[in-house]
This record gives sequence, structure tokens and C-alpha cells, in this order.
Amino acid sequence: MADSAIWVEGLVKRFKSVVALKGIDFEVQKGTIFGLLGPNGAGKTTTIRILATVLRADEGQARVMGHDVFEEPFAVRCQIGLAGQNAAVDPNLTGRENLRMIGKLAQVASSEIRRRADELLDTFDLMDAADRPLRTYSGGMRRRLDVAAALVSRPPIIFLDEPTTGLDVQSRTELWGVIRNLVADGSTVLLTTQYLEEADQLADRIAVMDLGRIVANDTAALLKSRLGNTVIEMEMENEAQSAWAEDVLQKTVADGQIEHEGVLVRINTDKGPLILIQAIRSLDAWGLVPIGLSVREPSLDDVFLTLTGTQAISSAPTTALGGGYS
Ligand code: ADP
Ligand code: MG
Repeated sequence: MADSAIWVEGLVKRFKSVVALKGIDFEVQKGTIFGLLGPNGAGKTTTIRILATVLRADEGQARVMGHDVFEEPFAVRCQIGLAGQNAAVDPNLTGRENLRMIGKLAQVASSEIRRRADELLDTFDLMDAADRPLRTYSGGMRRRLDVAAALVSRPPIIFLDEPTTGLDVQSRTELWGVIRNLVADGSTVLLTTQYLEEADQLADRIAVMDLGRIVANDTAALLKSRLGNTVIEMEMENEAQSAWAEDVLQKTVADGQIEHEGVLVRINTDKGPLILIQAIRSLDAWGLVPIGLSVREPSLDDVFLTLTGTQAISSAPTTALGGGYS
């Protein structure tokens, strides 16, 4: 707990009859990206709002950089930057004016605000649009400004609530780069997302949320390995060869289930890299040369389905939904 940036135990939050959080626990190490992954209504925003001291939990405890979220909200607010749904930016102010205003609200020294705003506009590739009102920005630009706004006061902890929802592929990729850089500079990021790919790409650890519970908390690699297996599939020239290949592999590879189906030979294993090498070597020793090869790692989609019984959203929409958040 001493080294954790965020520590949460037994958080419960009720909205009248809806129990949004049913007792969640997690811990985020300093200098890492932690992903809260879950579908709409899972409780991601509620969790972030409690940690950001915007909302009070009904039960449980939470600490941010050692400060109690309920007892020391002001100390917590000094440590955090929040970007996400319903962010506090004004569409009629320019990008530069928005950042300066937020700097003032965060009580950044006035001598610093000007420089900091320009630095962020530059980092987020918004310098050309700096003096245009925010309402003229594209969805991607607006989202970048929103993340920039969370960084004006250089907070050690950054909350990003669905930072890329509704963005086109290019804007998402750009924002991923920015988020990775934040952590390279020593920040800690708590990120929520509905996109498996995003959590997989960015997060050191992923907590899968569903209906107010955390149903898994692991590294992406471990989450995938829970589900098991790498599938290695080789296509042979004809069925006689694939039957022969199966026979050879049954006798020579050290792990996995092997079968053939038509011209395909399939190995299902949790030691993918090792078994792939063994398979290629033993087929080669018999002069068997596959004409096709595919190696499929389990996806987080598969994991989600296994854990929650529902399909998560596996890829981002390819069109931007405009600047607003839903
Ligand atoms: P997510 O961000 O994962 O989509 P939320 O934390 O926004 O989920 O919501 C979790 C649950 O709590 C949902 O069922 C939602 O309808 C409910 N909820 C969230 N905020 C409120 C609120 N202010 N009043 C009533 N219900 C709410
Ligand atoms: Mg939300």
C-alpha cells in the first residue's frame, strides 16, 4: 500500500435503487497505467468520480497518493487531473483561453500559466488552433484539449474517463501516444475504456468491471492466458500430408492438443512460442513443409465473454461522433 498511487477497498455506491458499485477493491502502483475495462453501466465513471472527490461513496475506503478521499478531499484534488465525460471546458473560449482559465482555477502561478498552456498546445498538436473557439474543433482536437486541460497543474495522478470513445482510428492512435508519454514522464494514469484493444495496448494492469463488480484484475497477458491457449494452424498440401503431419507432431511436440481437419493441422497450447518452434523443426525433419501458417493469440474479447457472459465492444467506431461526450 505504501507504494500505491491509488488504493481502493470495499467501495459501495447506491443511487436510490441502483447499486452502481457493489464493493470494489483495487490498487494502482505509481508510474503505471491501470485500465478499468467494462461495458456501459459497469460503474467506471462512478469509480472515477469518487476518487476525484466529486462523489461520496456509501461504504468503503479510498486513498490517492496516501490521502483519504473522504477525509482529505482538498489534498486529493491537488494530486489529480481529470479528463473525461462532461469535462469542464467552455466551447466559446479558445483552446488557449480554456487552458489558461483552468490553470487559474487550479491556482497555478500566473507566471507559469502562459508557458504551461503553450507547452501543452504544442505537445497536443493544437498550436495552429490555439486561438480558435473550442466549438470549431473536431472531436479529436477537442478530446486532446480535454486531456491537456487535465495536465495544466502537472498532477502526478491522471484520471482519463473513456478518453477515446467516439474518436476515429487516427485520433485514437494519436491520443494513445500522448497517454504513453505521460507515464514515461512519471505520472500514474487511471483509464477507463470500453475497448479491449485500448486496455491491451495501454494498461499495465486491467480490471474488468461488470455491473458494479470487478470480475478480474490482472495483466493483459495473464488475462489472456487464463483463457488459455495459442492456436497454431498449419495448412498442408493435401489431407494425406496433414494426417501424416498430425502423426509426426503427436510424437514430437511436448505440449498441446493436436488434431487435423482436411488439409489443416491444428495445435492448441499454452506454450505457443516453444511449441511453434518444436513443430516446425519436427515437420522439417520429415520433409513436411506447410503452405500456410497462422498463430492466433486469445483476445481480451474471449476473456470478457468468459468472465461476464456478455460480449464487450471489440473495436472503436471508425467515424468520429463529434466533439460532445455522451
Ligand atoms: P459506466 O461509466 O461504466 O458506464 P456509470 O458509473 O456511469 O457506468 O454507471 C453505473 C450505474 O450507475 C449505471 O447503472 C448508471 O445508470 C447508474 N448511475 C450513474 N450515475 C447515476 C446518477 N447520478 N443517478 C442515478 N444512477 C446513476
Ligand atoms: Mg462512464
